[in-house]
Amino acid sequence: TRKSDHTISRLASIGQISAGIAHEVRNPLTAVKGFIQLLQPENPHPYLDVASSELDRAISTLQNLLQVSKPDLDDEPYIPIHLCSEFEALLYLFQDKVYRVQIVRNFRDADQIIYGKRNQIKKAFFNLLKNAFEAIPHTGEVRIEHRRTEDQIHVTIQDTGTGIPEEKLELLGTPFFTTKDEGTGMGLAQVYSALYQHGATIEVWSRVGEGTTFLIKFSLESMKEIKLADLELQDAEGFS
Ligand code: ADP
Ligand code: MG
Repeated sequence: TRKSDHTISRLASIGQISAGIAHEVRNPLTAVKGFIQLLQPENPHPYLDVASSELDRAISTLQNLLQVSKPDLDDEPYIPIHLCSEFEALLYLFQDKVYRVQIVRNFRDADQIIYGKRNQIKKAFFNLLKNAFEAIPHTGEVRIEHRRTEDQIHVTIQDTGTGIPEEKLELLGTPFFTTKDEGTGMGLAQVYSALYQHGATIEVWSRVGEGTTFLIKFSLESMKEIKLADLELQDAEGFS
């Protein structure tokens, strides 16, 4: 079962719409929060505490949404990112899982780099790894690969976890889509939005009970263009 990447541009426009809504709703909520804070010292009341912390929750949800749907807001520069060391650093965060999940690395070229916004890319790889580990209830395998083809760099993150039912595949990357009790449904939204911004495509294969594979294809050509555009932008702004 496969999710094609034409849905990515649809997700990007969902992102634009959500960003607009998030922005419009966050401002009045922040104002209400301010008024409650003004009331509280004079009129302490447990209801005000509840109202205040519920507002915090809503505002932070909107903040998350704004971050994934408008990653351009934090205008990071494009820099070389060393894939092997980035993955090693990320895998270190999942150390507590290694007694039950085997990690297999297949890194064709130890020096492989991509150009990108490092925080966005790190977050995206982290979110994919986190989902892979979370999909494995007991024991299993997480496999990470990267290799260069003639004009692309392929990064694969594969797990032997629960898999994703066919009818859910189309929903991947939609903000708030989650099947987890404690899930936020923001992980893949960040992944799709960040990778789309890098001109990458994402393909997903999954089979229930067998596992899931995410294949990310970075185009060398579009990476070059993005990098050049970024440099021009910096020049225009007076950076060197
Ligand atoms: P969250 O992890 O908070 O639920 P995500 O956006 O990261 O949100 O993922 C959305 C949903 O996609 C998950 O709840 C899960 O149902 C499904 N999913 C994502 N990655 C995998 C995976 N590797 N294996 C199985 N299901 C997955
Ligand atoms: Mg997740």
